[in-house]
Amino acid sequence: MMREEMIKLPKIELHCHLDGSLSQEFIERRLGRHVRKEELSVSDDCRSLAEYLEKFDLPGQCLRDERGLEEAGFDVLKSMSRENVCYAEIRFAPLFSETASMSCTKAIEALLKGMEKGKQTFGIEYGLITCAMRHHSEEENLRMIKAAREFLGAGVCAADLAGAEASYPMTEFMNLFQNARRIGMPFTIHAGECGSAENIKTAVDAGAARIGHGIAMRGHADLIRELAQKKIGIEMCPISNLQTKAVPGPEAYPLREFIDGKLLVTVNTDNRTVSNTTMTKELEFIQKMYNITDEEILLMMKNAADVAFTDDAVREKLYRKLEGK
Ligand SMILES: [Zn+2]
Repeated sequence: MMREEMIKLPKIELHCHLDGSLSQEFIERRLGRHVRKEELSVSDDCRSLAEYLEKFDLPGQCLRDERGLEEAGFDVLKSMSRENVCYAEIRFAPLFSETASMSCTKAIEALLKGMEKGKQTFGIEYGLITCAMRHHSEEENLRMIKAAREFLGAGVCAADLAGAEASYPMTEFMNLFQNARRIGMPFTIHAGECGSAENIKTAVDAGAARIGHGIAMRGHADLIRELAQKKIGIEMCPISNLQTKAVPGPEAYPLREFIDGKLLVTVNTDNRTVSNTTMTKELEFIQKMYNITDEEILLMMKNAADVAFTDDAVREKLYRKLEGK
């Protein structure tokens, strides 16, 4: 596909963090000062996850009041609309926005207000995924998920588990997700990004409908078969995964292996600004690097529609969009 066609292609994005995807323009406006690109995005030779995580400092400061959250929701959908994203699931951690005067509920409400405005302005369907964090207590995470549950079907579409995967085994979160299931909250889990294949297996056993990254599944044919059979969506983020060294080098990236293993692979940006990427850039990159065909690009968009946390009416709309109707 040529650049022009790639930009025009209707896209579905399922794994995009709000704080890592805010435009430079938005951040400068909120902070009231000029920021250098290096303060927000990693260089091409990003050395480590630590270097990657540093870039979340400034955007985080913009998400601690209602106006910032509302404008942020609008800002990300605006960036996405420029490359024809027609459906987006955006994720954020409400507990990070909490202050004395801001509850999880207020933070979610403010962000949804901005996203709803973005939907009206740019015609993008959206869902909000609220992230529990591994370093937060079970009590705090459950409180957040219960608050988010009140908005399920009214902007919020699912929960997630994010944060330092290598430091906290998945088994510590079984109880949290049992409770999430009990209250009817669907969820995806970051697993196998820098952790083990075992984490992926445990996340699926905990009830995750999708897996964020799942890279550690490479070489585990049995697990690939199991997740393919269970129709678990795999949210891959190629450029981010290479920057954070989730694999030793580009040749070890398991995209081709996962597609051939019939997994429901989707391609996403993870962090548009921090990773200096877009959906268009990701798709061009995988075509060039991994000989992904145009048909496979379309298949991955259809996979994304299949596993999106949305209702059948929106899903049908997405299938029609992808078919160019
Ligand atoms: Zn992520």
